Amino acid sequence: MKYVYGNWKMYLDHAQATELAGNLADVNIPTGVDVAVFPSMLSFASVSGQLADANISVGSQKVYWESAGAYTGAVNAEMVLASGGTHTLVGHSERRHVFGDTNEHVRKQLDAALSAGLVAVLCIGETAEDLERGERELRLQEQLRSALEGREIVDGKLIVAYEPVWAIGTGNPCLPDDADDIHGLLRSEIAQYTDLTIPLLYGGSVKADSVVSYLEKDTIDGVLVGSASVDVDQFTRMISAAA
Ligand code: PEP
Repeated sequence: MKYVYGNWKMYLDHAQATELAGNLADVNIPTGVDVAVFPSMLSFASVSGQLADANISVGSQKVYWESAGAYTGAVNAEMVLASGGTHTLVGHSERRHVFGDTNEHVRKQLDAALSAGLVAVLCIGETAEDLERGERELRLQEQLRSALEGREIVDGKLIVAYEPVWAIGTGNPCLPDDADDIHGLLRSEIAQYTDLTIPLLYGGSVKADSVVSYLEKDTIDGVLVGSASVDVDQFTRMISAAA
């Protein structure tokens, strides 16, 4: 299975999200390719309705860990499920670095997502400073340990996305050979926490023209794509390339 996941971030207003979902609904998803999109909450229910008969899953960009209550601006995992969602991102770098989510917050979000039955895409990645200081592996190990230690993981419910912060939205990707090495390391780290085979995605400035160079690596099960995923032509080419 190869995964092509698109994080729409805050790129699209409702009309644009509706148009993109309408275009994607007509795309033939090849066997062996798992496709998911992560629209904003404003368009979530309508996009999931538009894609209900397409072979494309819909997920949220985050979930909060509390159940219903006085939490302004928050959405929980049950709400995502009730609106037709099956997936969620957890710990995306922009949530960590723009909105201040800590490893502890990420763990609680992951708890909430998994106990509700969502497929959680746990995003981890080092900053440019970590890289310069030679602390890349340490940072990734910390993020994995904090999220996974002592956790019961159900097969098919956890995906890990390696997304170096310095590569996201910068046009400066982590090159495929480097990502391959890091994925090898992540595989052995993850093996400390589970015997299951956890899909590992790479994310960070992947474009239609570069996607094959990642997908052809044995250690890379798929890609998590930001800006190129809201371009229907690029996203569709990525889906075909993954077949
Ligand atoms: C992302 O936000 O997960 C991402 C990988 O963004 P981009 O593809 O734009 O670098």
